[in-house]
Amino acid sequence: MPNFKKERTYVMVKPDGVKKGLIGEILHRFEQRDLKIVALEMFHATKEQIDNHYPKDEAWIRRLGQKTLGTYEKYGLDAVKELGTNDDLELGKFVRGWLVEYMTSAPLVRMVVEGVHAVDMVRKICGATLPYLADMGTIRGDYSNDSPVIANMEKRSVMNIMHASETPVEAQHEIEHWFGGREEVIFDYKRYGEE
Ligand code: UDP
Ligand code: MG
Repeated sequence: MPNFKKERTYVMVKPDGVKKGLIGEILHRFEQRDLKIVALEMFHATKEQIDNHYPKDEAWIRRLGQKTLGTYEKYGLDAVKELGTNDDLELGKFVRGWLVEYMTSAPLVRMVVEGVHAVDMVRKICGATLPYLADMGTIRGDYSNDSPVIANMEKRSVMNIMHASETPVEAQHEIEHWFGGREEVIFDYKRYGEE
């Protein structure tokens, strides 16, 4: 059985999070929930690294496109008029391309966070993908109001402060992608009061 007490997840502070001075706030919110930062580093990602970070399978790209279609339907917007197509795969490819541009536009902070159900806890603290809909009290809900309608209009990705793995399998892949072969920068230590 996996050790749910010591589950690990992967987090990146995105360019808007770094530029808004939210690195400390994000770390603080993890630490106050008794999550442990076990690896931490600022770096500038290459396009190739970001391209390999986000899934490349058609289903994932279509899902990205469907999010745009869902939003457009909700607000009575026509994807063909706004973006030239209503094909979910094409739209997903646009968003993915903008994401690569965005994630390489400034330094990022990458980290591994460990603790009780770390994957789900960190996603909860992070909040929903679209900041204007994210709950207050979450990082995305407290520090961003971005929307895909505005982002698509400006031909850029939604700026939502941080990335966090969605599942333990995704976390494992992402930790391997960003820290693979450098296990010495992931630390094992006890927090104050830990047995
Ligand atoms: N994204 C976007 N437009 C959308 C949906 C997503 O620009 O309509 C960007 C956004 O930055 C998001 C990233 O694509 O964080 C990855 O999308 P995912 O659905 O995996 O969201 P997350 O896991 O980051 O909440
Ligand atoms: Mg995701």
